[in-house]
Amino acid sequence: MFFEELEWLEQNSLLRVIKDRGAAVRPGKILLNGIEYINFSSNDYLGLAFNASVIESAKSAMDRYGFGAGASRLLCGGTELHNELENAVADFKGTEEALVFNSGYTANISIIPAIADEGDVIFSDELNHASIIDGCRLSRAKKVIYRHKDVNHLLELIKKEKAKKKIVITDTVFSMDGDIAPLKEIYNICCEYNAILYIDDAHGTGVLGSGKGSLAHFGIKPDSRPDSQIIQMGTFSKALGSYGAFIAATKDVIDWLINTGRGFIYSTALPACIIAASIEALKILQKRPEIVERLWQNRQRLISGINSLGFETFNSETPIISVKTGDIKTAIKIADMLEQHRIYAPAIRPPTVKIPRIRFTVTAAHTEDDIDTLIDILSKIA
Ligand SMILES: *Cc1c(COP(=O)(O)O)cnc(C)c1O
Repeated sequence: MFFEELEWLEQNSLLRVIKDRGAAVRPGKILLNGIEYINFSSNDYLGLAFNASVIESAKSAMDRYGFGAGASRLLCGGTELHNELENAVADFKGTEEALVFNSGYTANISIIPAIADEGDVIFSDELNHASIIDGCRLSRAKKVIYRHKDVNHLLELIKKEKAKKKIVITDTVFSMDGDIAPLKEIYNICCEYNAILYIDDAHGTGVLGSGKGSLAHFGIKPDSRPDSQIIQMGTFSKALGSYGAFIAATKDVIDWLINTGRGFIYSTALPACIIAASIEALKILQKRPEIVERLWQNRQRLISGINSLGFETFNSETPIISVKTGDIKTAIKIADMLEQHRIYAPAIRPPTVKIPRIRFTVTAAHTEDDIDTLIDILSKIA
């Protein structure tokens, strides 16, 4: 059982295998099988996973609160820190309230079914993250898929729907192509047709809008229209270098999720040490804008280099830069060549994406040398 299927994956170069790190090495680097590589595959955009005060906060919370949370938030799993983090997120995102979820994946598969039911309609970008797709499947709402970032298509589809509750769901930064959803136009459509806008800001928080996220990037105020609400989901697991997710919205939405979000109700709370790390990371993000500036300088350096070599980069507008490689075999061959030169950036293949590619994520922790090394090796490969 499963053997033939696995064999088929292997023969078609589609078999996924886990690569585990050997130790916490320097930011921007990764240790695999005793060899140190420059790491262009991490979402730790600001290098905060290695930040000394983030680590210290986690340690002292562990001393104070112990390790495992012991139960869900509705029993006794939460701590004062959970509440402090939620207040900090609401403040940061400019919403009435916020609620912590155990991961971005859990947030999407819990929240979407909680806010969309039979008779409702969800409009979803065709390149939305797998967790959104799964959340839509778990809800009993009708799903309408619009072409990637195509606001005219969205408009055409939303006009046809008579349902009372309509929800438009989109990634803000698309995790594989690194492009940005046209949120202004999408929000205008939501206002015109009284739809809820649900955004997944996993790759936007800490990256766009000087770190404040995609709404700040577009100058959109949350909660500005009660009849066409914005629900913002984001994660602590990427630019904030920690773990877990949040939802930032009005008090009504948060109260509703506390009562109906299954991944919130039926799952053990995150350990206090993780929450403490997120609190500290959020503070650093707000206190030190130069880290985000550094991220964008690095991004500029890498994209200029890659473009000058003539590679196609899927309309990347962010630190996620995917390079088109042709077929799957070529993608794997290039990933192997990079690895021989001590650069780690995996080939991304179907079914994760339709078009094979090497996906680079550049971070604030990379040095100019790291980036120039990558460009140099890419020029040899080209
Ligand atoms: C990573 C990601 C998630 C999942 O977040 P986790 O905290 O890793 O579970 C959800 N949505 C998007 C767009 C992501 O990139």
